[in-house]
Amino acid sequence: MDITLARTWVQAIAAAVDEHQDYLTQLDSAIGDADHGTNMHRGFRAVTAALPGTEPATVGEVLVKTGSLLISAVGGASGPLYGSAFRAMGRALDIPTADTAQFAAALAAGLASVQNLGAAVPGDKTMIDAFAPAVEAFQHIAQAGGDFAAAAGAAADAAEDGMRATTPLQARKGRASYLGPRSIGHQDPGATSTALIFRALAETAAAR
Ligand code: ADP
Ligand code: MG
Repeated sequence: MDITLARTWVQAIAAAVDEHQDYLTQLDSAIGDADHGTNMHRGFRAVTAALPGTEPATVGEVLVKTGSLLISAVGGASGPLYGSAFRAMGRALDIPTADTAQFAAALAAGLASVQNLGAAVPGDKTMIDAFAPAVEAFQHIAQAGGDFAAAAGAAADAAEDGMRATTPLQARKGRASYLGPRSIGHQDPGATSTALIFRALAETAAAR
């Protein structure tokens, strides 16, 4: 991961969010307040508006800036949660180029920061249900000597599996938890946007 790849990744997330904005909102209308697509769109539009005007010297600067913009642009729970994830990843990558192991450690820091802030664990039907298996898959491939694109591909597959596995769960965190058992049978919106974020990473890495 270098500065160009970090920038391209963030652009790819913004494009995926644009494409799937209505779907994310539709998922959130079933078990939330129907704003997840709007929140993600607003956040990543702020990022794509501001990032091209910056001259980052490290991968970390791209990601910290992304996180800060998400926090200031998004009102919903997902803004501070994703914002803290990107900021923590960025703080772990104060270097111009990160190898696969360094990026794996940064992903773990991002996940830890979301869990510190939101106190969700796997099975609570949140973005953690996609994020945690994605980090685990990335680490697994990295430790086995796989390259960045292979690790990112495995992470995206794991995130999508985790996303689908949220459907039968009852929400224990976030707005969806107010529905109790009525949250069962719906895919979690935040797990879905997390899967988009990891798929964007995999596609960006594979395209190099
Ligand atoms: P809001 O719930 O404020 O309307 P969004 O609709 O943008 O915010 O995001 C909702 C998503 O945020 C949920 O689908 C869930 O994945 C995620 N989420 C909510 N609370 C938490 C939490 N405490 N920890 C992790 N993720 C959470
Ligand atoms: Mg919402």
